Amino acid sequence: KRQPSRKGSMADVPKNLLQEIENLENLFTVDAAKLKQITDHFVGELTAGLEKDGQNIPMNPTWVMGFPDGDEQGTFLALDMGGTNLRVCEITLTEEKGEFDIIQSKYRMPEELKTGTAEELWEYIADCLQQFIEYHHEEGDLTALPLGFTFSYPATQDYIDHGILQRWTKGFDISGVEGEDVVPQFQAALDARKLPIKLAALINDTTGTMIASAYTDQSMKIGCIFGTGCNAAYMENCGSIPKLKHMNLPDDMPMAINCEYGAFDNDHKVLPITKYDTIIDENSPRPGQQAFEKMIAGLYLGEIFRLVVVDLHENKNILFEGQDISKLRKPYTLDASFPAFIEEDPFENLQETHDMFREKLGINATKPELELCRRLAELIGTRAARLSACGVAAICKKKNIESCHVGADGSVFTKYPHFKARGAQALREILDWPKGKKDPVSILPSEDGSGVGAALIAALTLKRIKAGNT
Ligand code: BGC
Ligand code: MG
Repeated sequence: KRQPSRKGSMADVPKNLLQEIENLENLFTVDAAKLKQITDHFVGELTAGLEKDGQNIPMNPTWVMGFPDGDEQGTFLALDMGGTNLRVCEITLTEEKGEFDIIQSKYRMPEELKTGTAEELWEYIADCLQQFIEYHHEEGDLTALPLGFTFSYPATQDYIDHGILQRWTKGFDISGVEGEDVVPQFQAALDARKLPIKLAALINDTTGTMIASAYTDQSMKIGCIFGTGCNAAYMENCGSIPKLKHMNLPDDMPMAINCEYGAFDNDHKVLPITKYDTIIDENSPRPGQQAFEKMIAGLYLGEIFRLVVVDLHENKNILFEGQDISKLRKPYTLDASFPAFIEEDPFENLQETHDMFREKLGINATKPELELCRRLAELIGTRAARLSACGVAAICKKKNIESCHVGADGSVFTKYPHFKARGAQALREILDWPKGKKDPVSILPSEDGSGVGAALIAALTLKRIKAGNT
């Protein structure tokens, strides 16, 4: 059903809408020169974060000290506390190099939990683990299994099995956890249920993604998440981490760094922030935080779209004149799947988009209005992909990486239309690769970071403890 071309479809768009489309293009387009400027500033910020705490980008040492060699073995539990789901896996790393078996269950993270109390959170997670164990094991057939807990928020770690939550991100606002070590809180809920589980490692999703990807592809050097939130991890040498100097670790010892670069440019030095981005920030539970993430991550793409549309209706009398847009007034009514759907509408007349506006929002949109909405979706999706590339490019520049694979995961990366191609194009522009050759750095879908990655990190940790290096 895909139509061959949409060219010419703007022909019947009236002047005032065309003018508005042009305004939006100016507002949301980030050209190559700007991408380069952002990337250069980014490199400096990565370095600053390694020097001392309290910088824009936290650059958290993770105590994951090296890549897997493929010979890791054993059975592990993995727990992934995501924004939407909670996933529990049991993973057996088998004797065959680079292979594994996995069983898993998914549970929904109730929306209320995100703004509830610490106790409610840990109780809920422990209940899910209990259900998993009771379902998959006979009573008593289990000796304490090591658990890798993927906790995808910024945490300060002095050891791999601890982590003080720096702050919630991605719209979470649970009281009693920020500034606290999450592990004793979590372990207490497990112990109250007498669950045979011992937390071995607290892991960020980016680190899990990097390690899981490297398990099957040795050219993987960076792990990224482009999902509800955005972030990356890479392997640094301890000698280049001044803030760890007091630990007297060997200079050439590897240490995975969870950049937490969603916080890039919190001080607004380079990002082309629009008034819509400012509204998102001000209405979020943590204003002033995660400036970069709020412009590009999945949690915000639908909301940016919504804010623009409401503004055009209300203040510029341009869209949906005389219609009741009350459904559209509710913040976060639209998630990233809304602009994604519009971008994927195969019909020249945007029939599917028209029907979705009517069914979901009770709005009867004209063809020119739909054209504007499609252009807006493209602009928002393109800006997200191009800005995202700056983080990856900055790590490559910082580490003088000339070629590598980057393992990526997250709903925006896997589902948002054209995200991969737009990101790759931006990398080419930033890093000035010669035309017509294979891209030296490519961002590829990763193995299951929060499952296999978490199990591998637990295995690597136990191996290190056994060898007597903590
Ligand atoms: C969190 C990171 C995480 C990223 C992707 C951000 O909001 O701070 O820890 O890696 O989201 O899930
Ligand atoms: Mg996740």
